[in-house]
Amino acid sequence: GLVMATGCGVKAQDKATAPSKAEITAKANELLAKMSLEEKVGQMTQVTLDVIGKGDDRFSSFEPFALDKELVKKAVSEYHVGSFLNTANNRALPKEKWYEVIKEIQDINKAETNLGIPIIYGVDMIHGATYTAGATMFPQQIGQAASRNPELVQRGAEITAYETRASGIPWNFSPVLDLGMDPRFSRMWESFGEDPYLASVLGVAMIDGYEGKDNNIGHPEHIASTLKHFLGYHAVTSGKDRTPSYIPQDALREYHLPPFKAAVEAGAHTIMVNSGIINGVPVHANYDLLTSLLKEELGFEGLVVTDWADIENLHRRDRVAASDREAIKMAINAGIDMSMVPYQYEVFVDNLLDLVKSGEVKESRIDDAVRRILKVKLALNLFETPITHYKNYPKFGSKEFEQAAYTTAAESITLLKNEENILPLEKNVKVLVTGPNANSMRTLNGAWTYSWQGEKTPEFAESYNTILEAVQKKIGAENVIFEPGVSYVEGGKYYEDEKVNFEQAISAAKNVDYIILAVGENTYTEKPGDLNDLYLSDHQTELAKALAKTGTPVILVLNEGRPRIISKFEREMNVIVQTYLPGNFGGDALADILFGDVNPSGKLPYNYPRYPNALIPYIHKPSEEQAKAEGVYNYEADYNPQFFFGDGLSYTTFEYSDLKLDKSQISTTGSVTVEVKVTNTGKRAGKEVVELYTSDLYASQSTPDVKRLRRFEKISLEPGETKTVSFILNAKDLAYFTPKGASMVEPGDFEVMVNKLKTNLEVTN
Ligand code: BGC
Repeated sequence: GLVMATGCGVKAQDKATAPSKAEITAKANELLAKMSLEEKVGQMTQVTLDVIGKGDDRFSSFEPFALDKELVKKAVSEYHVGSFLNTANNRALPKEKWYEVIKEIQDINKAETNLGIPIIYGVDMIHGATYTAGATMFPQQIGQAASRNPELVQRGAEITAYETRASGIPWNFSPVLDLGMDPRFSRMWESFGEDPYLASVLGVAMIDGYEGKDNNIGHPEHIASTLKHFLGYHAVTSGKDRTPSYIPQDALREYHLPPFKAAVEAGAHTIMVNSGIINGVPVHANYDLLTSLLKEELGFEGLVVTDWADIENLHRRDRVAASDREAIKMAINAGIDMSMVPYQYEVFVDNLLDLVKSGEVKESRIDDAVRRILKVKLALNLFETPITHYKNYPKFGSKEFEQAAYTTAAESITLLKNEENILPLEKNVKVLVTGPNANSMRTLNGAWTYSWQGEKTPEFAESYNTILEAVQKKIGAENVIFEPGVSYVEGGKYYEDEKVNFEQAISAAKNVDYIILAVGENTYTEKPGDLNDLYLSDHQTELAKALAKTGTPVILVLNEGRPRIISKFEREMNVIVQTYLPGNFGGDALADILFGDVNPSGKLPYNYPRYPNALIPYIHKPSEEQAKAEGVYNYEADYNPQFFFGDGLSYTTFEYSDLKLDKSQISTTGSVTVEVKVTNTGKRAGKEVVELYTSDLYASQSTPDVKRLRRFEKISLEPGETKTVSFILNAKDLAYFTPKGASMVEPGDFEVMVNKLKTNLEVTN
């Protein structure tokens, strides 16, 4: 197992020197009193690096980046801009270059402004410091969710924080706390999967890693996290990015809110708003969500930042505002504190100044926004240390960090099918490695890696092992034939453009013991990843079928951001392994699992659909599945996913026994201790995720779901070993939300389920 380090070895701002919340607020108020309206509005303005750099085409090929000092000067001295984001030319930079760029911005800001309030710089470092050359890349969040291991998630975030600070950056636009309930959505893989409880636990673990458990973000190894995208971003009706959602109050609170609520309670410092529209109201203009719910009801004291250009979108895209000025008024009055403008910042600043002068936006609203921003800057210790120096971060990209990323990948990879125990393979075999994902670092990492769409894998990333290279290392290159069969077209317009060359792959298949077929998706995110067909591509499907016909056993390796449907050929596959987007060490971790050096322990964080018209998540109502079993006339429910949430095989076997509650009745405010024994009945050591679900058998309305995850724990067991796992379950965990949005624990009978064991629990008045 992984040893949890307590720190990475840099001189720390320890608890004793960290200012208290009250001290931070007092300092923010002191500053606020000295600021002009222009300076305040500038603090609320965030600008992309593209605007102040030379060679500023986001999508152009790499050119050495240079700041245009005059443009920086103009932004900070004339417009008092308080924040910048993003990367140069949409490319990863070496940490030395990051230092140079941000240092220059901070220096110009200091020299050119009266108060010298430091700039806060933010970047998407979503699975490691993704925009810094040579940083450590972890699996994307969807894979981290499959690991079911909060300690690994926390450790990954600690390392990301360290390497982000090593890049001179204090603010990270991560984690995603949206629910990945819809496989059509192009950002499902950025989430922790479909379950609100799993997302809550892992979200808090990630925040603890970024900010430290005490949220002392002034510590030079900690960064400010950003909860995103508040609220309901992935729940789009059409499945396409940034399109309208209709989400009833009960669903909003029952499913979408809990991870954000848990993260706010964990002290996260910033939050980013959902770019979309819920129930007809763009979230960026929604006072009820941003102010009443987030700031008042949840008591969020941090800063609320928009998503990319989303204030101008109120006017230009959503058409709820007749002008930019109107859009700015709506958003700021709804509760936005900082605008990720990110281009035409003059329009934002000038209009907002005018709105305050005319009384349409109150100065007290501006003060509230600026106070929140200053508090984050103060908490980050930016006034004393506007930029951290890479020289103080000797463990950047170290073996120790790489080992942690490898471990997370190894614990995330999920074995879904293993006919006749084909896996683990012996090492004296000959294999064909094929498929478009077999030899690509780009597809192992997914998007937001080295560039927005992940399309510019730099040379240094080629030094890690692809699936092919890891298999070659494992059994000797002479025992491996590589024929891709299907390849993604480099520079293709659509991320699924493919080239086909089946013949060599099929003839090679006849001369090997096994076929390792790596399929899935090329990288994408946001709009460019919108999808019209959830089936795996036709070419890849044909390749799989043709290879199966050769009679050589096929090990299907999935490397994809969302579950692409494989039911057209699934039966012909002997083994199926899901790798998700496992990062730079995913190839190594996979090879270790295929050849038995690691026992797999990942569990699916979503239901894997069998058909495009049956996208039913594991969280669903009884009418989706039970009616037939209970003898309802002429009623055929269609709940039959390819694989279920929680599925994941091991090379050993686990037996569950003695599921016990310490009482069979509790009150609506009570709690119960649940115990279960788990034994490793096989021949090798293994890790098992023990998951506790509950089911509300009858309720006064059909709001509760067939079953819901309430607790989980990952344990290790030696052969023959038994462990007793115990969980405390509270009656309030069994509450559900009524359509009017009220939480209710309803007395009645519940079932408590662990693995295949069940027992009853009664909740009384
Ligand atoms: C994305 C956010 C991201 C932001 C800044 C937006 O397009 O939706 O998730 O943090 O860009 O890069």
